Amino acid sequence: MRRYLYVSLAAAFGVIALKLGAWHFTGSVGFLSDALESLVNVVAAAFALLMVAIAGRPPDSDHPYGHTKAEYFSSALEGLLIGVAALGIAAEAVHRLLQPHPVHAVPAGVALNALATLINLGVARWMLSGARRLRSIVLEADARHLLADVWTSVGVIVGVSLVPLTGWLWLDPIVGIVVAGHIVGEAWRLVARSVDGLMDRSLPDADIAEVNLVLQRYRNVDVRFDHVRTRRAGTRRFVSMHMHMPAHWSLGRAAHCRLQVERALTEHIAGLVATIEMLPQGEESLLDGANPPATRGAPEG
Ligand SMILES: [Zn+2]
Repeated sequence: MRRYLYVSLAAAFGVIALKLGAWHFTGSVGFLSDALESLVNVVAAAFALLMVAIAGRPPDSDHPYGHTKAEYFSSALEGLLIGVAALGIAAEAVHRLLQPHPVHAVPAGVALNALATLINLGVARWMLSGARRLRSIVLEADARHLLADVWTSVGVIVGVSLVPLTGWLWLDPIVGIVVAGHIVGEAWRLVARSVDGLMDRSLPDADIAEVNLVLQRYRNVDVRFDHVRTRRAGTRRFVSMHMHMPAHWSLGRAAHCRLQVERALTEHIAGLVATIEMLPQGEESLLDGANPPATRGAPEG
């Protein structure tokens, strides 16, 4: 995980240098705002490294469930940073609409910016595959941020290239506004995902179906499951449930049965933490009451 973040941090410094070079040659405000957007990448990547270091810590007495939710702060902050950068680009574009001015040495600037964009695209695709493998929202946030940066650059390159060809000074700011709109969408999705994580949203339907499949195998005349609840914190997935068994069973027999279910669940779903409360048939714990809550896709009976 850290290898991905260190590489993205190093790449971001190179990309900023190239984009500042493009601005220096052309005097294009589009290239300058593009470079500023990459600066946000560096801040975000540094912050993500810090958060991953915190999330990786083992549980301690102050945080007995671990520190995995730290990831959500990172992705929420990145979403906000992307949004702010997009608004900055839009403001700059509006300013250029009102006060058009020409750009110089466009081919040199485009070449530098295109090279920076190719670096970003390569790093982003590499990080996205890593994020899928590691199920990391931090890596995914960073990769999506880089992809948003690629879109910004493509828009800026096209806009700036067409200005000397057509003489349309308004084209550059219009492209900038369209690209900023796309980036705001990316930012919104990142913030929404972080909120889902912090609000203990249940696991995706595929994971819940997998839990159902396992419980189906152990469900019979004697054994019944209810109050099945799932949540996710960073890379870890949690399920808790009641396991109702005949009141006359010995505690040893019930515990043996419970252990089998726990083992099957953690074997089928990687990184799952299962909490199974044993109860006799017809009895419920005080907290959960007699009527199980309607849980999305959760098995009952
Ligand atoms: Zn129950």
